[in-house]
Amino acid sequence: MAKKYEGVAIGIDLGTTYSCVGVWQEQNDRVEIIHNDQGNKTTPSCVAFTNTQRLIGDAAKNQASSNPTNTVFDAKRLMGRKYSDSVIQNDILLWPFKVIAGSNDKPSILVSYNGKEKHVLPEEISAMILTQMREIAGAFLESPVKNVVITVPAYFNDSQRRATKDAGAIAGLNVMRIINEPTAAALAYGLQKRANCVEEKTVFIFDLGGGTFDVSLLTIKNNVFEVKATAGDTHLGGEDFDNRMVNYFVTEFKRKNKIDISGSSKALRRLRTACERAKRTLSYDTDTTIDIDAIYEGIDFCSSITRAKFEQLNMDLFEKCMETVRSCLVDAKMDKSRVDDIVLVGGSSRIPKVKQLLQDFFKGKELCKSINPDEAVAYGAAVQAALLSDGFKNVPGIVLQDVTPLSLGVEINGDLMDVVIPRNTSIPVRKTNTYFTVEDNQCIITVKVYEGERIRASDNNLLGLFDFSVPPAPRDSLTIKECFSLDEDGILNVSAEEETSGNKKDITITNKNGRLSREEIERMIQEAEFFKAQDMKFKKKAKAINALDDYLYNVRKVMKDDCVSSKLTAVDKVKINSTMIKGKSLIDGNQQEDTFVFVDLLEELESIFESAMKKVNKIFSDEESD
Ligand code: AMP
Repeated sequence: MAKKYEGVAIGIDLGTTYSCVGVWQEQNDRVEIIHNDQGNKTTPSCVAFTNTQRLIGDAAKNQASSNPTNTVFDAKRLMGRKYSDSVIQNDILLWPFKVIAGSNDKPSILVSYNGKEKHVLPEEISAMILTQMREIAGAFLESPVKNVVITVPAYFNDSQRRATKDAGAIAGLNVMRIINEPTAAALAYGLQKRANCVEEKTVFIFDLGGGTFDVSLLTIKNNVFEVKATAGDTHLGGEDFDNRMVNYFVTEFKRKNKIDISGSSKALRRLRTACERAKRTLSYDTDTTIDIDAIYEGIDFCSSITRAKFEQLNMDLFEKCMETVRSCLVDAKMDKSRVDDIVLVGGSSRIPKVKQLLQDFFKGKELCKSINPDEAVAYGAAVQAALLSDGFKNVPGIVLQDVTPLSLGVEINGDLMDVVIPRNTSIPVRKTNTYFTVEDNQCIITVKVYEGERIRASDNNLLGLFDFSVPPAPRDSLTIKECFSLDEDGILNVSAEEETSGNKKDITITNKNGRLSREEIERMIQEAEFFKAQDMKFKKKAKAINALDDYLYNVRKVMKDDCVSSKLTAVDKVKINSTMIKGKSLIDGNQQEDTFVFVDLLEELESIFESAMKKVNKIFSDEESD
């Protein structure tokens, strides 16, 4: 039996473009999806750095067009990937912010913050978003939150999962569990539809979000949710559809104006925002327009696009989605006619062509529309969080049985992949394979651990490697047992043991693939504290400036009232006016002064004005009593 975590716990859907947070509400027997301070239930996964502050969520997204190079989005696409990865190299061409190669080939984002250049890792950006989501939940619950379940795409590999856990650690969160997004959505479906029926139900989850695509086939029976197979693409989603439209309009602009705007991050950012909006419109309209004032060198850009054109631009990507659907069913050895319900999750599942292709694939079967595609994942994560924590009552006793998305194995002689845990195996799981030395008197065995489906080991993703010493002996005479253990988060540990010598080695597959070390995480936790302190400092200063500005406004109004100003002494008038001038120049200046300068000036003005007004009020009351 697993130990329960103490206190409240929340579920966070850490999305590529938007994030969402939920908490179990025992009073209503359901999950509450929590809205942010803007009243929105989803928060942009966006962080911006300016000369004065750091912004997260809506505030960051709203200023993106004017500060494109320091507004970071899509961090999830960078998580757990190498800088040299061709996928990252392609993305870099379209991002307005700068990504450079950091240590261990890790991508690092270069921004300007408070006038200084700063390198931030994708994990740190994700940590900032997680912190924001935690604060949204904390404000709603009126208490600090530490325990969390975070969702990841089912098709996230080992290093992407680890990077997500690291992001949680940097945010100071206790990541109780990482769960797969489609599985979380299935939980939401199961609970909302009360599908905990005695009869087994087969559900297909189609989750097409901003940056990732996942499908999962599950059976639900008596509150047991069992994933049969999963498939996906960790780099396919709404952003790709936006990119196609951006490229289309860049070409059109070039044709019309003989100018290439693809090198202008500001123009691209504005075009991308307009394209995303147009794409959403095309989900319910058959055509729409793009209208951007002075997009480049004062030239306005006005154009239109039809739904048919949008579909044509993206058809290969939509077809790719259907291919994944097909392969998931093949993996699950399930005929499509046996699927009872097809559940749409993720904002991009609203695209009519995607829905049509999916419905055609399932021979015209109605798609389930009753689940909110933006909230289902956070809903499921919140249920799992409540199940793992002791802070909730009335949580339905659900059992989740998930699978690993990729095969895991070791390289054997001849660069061959020997699969130890095949993909779609239920997790947690522990499996041991036995190997032999390949040379006489071989003293060192290098264990190379890979994930992927290719026959040649080196074509797969190398998770890590370690050397293992064995006593000299003729080839084939030593037995080495290699044990793969995959936990509930889908994270792998490998151990090796040679029986005659009793040599043992346990390795957690870390660092080799760019995972953060404990020291790096510690440093980033401190940096996160630094950012937080800077944010607080900025907020305090902004509050002081606003308070001074408000007070100046009110004093100015009173001073304009002849009735009052005629009663002020000449000395008081001079004092008030000169302090007001000082205040105005402070506010109109570059505001580089410390907070206390604004606070002190406000106090000075308050004291002068209040004492002057006491005298004026005395004159008024004397006049009244005469
Ligand atoms: P998610 O990751 O689930 O939050 O999905 C975000 C993605 O869904 C973004 O790329 C959005 O542009 C896209 N999206 C949201 N609403 C719509 C819509 N009505 N039509 C097409 N795409 C949408």
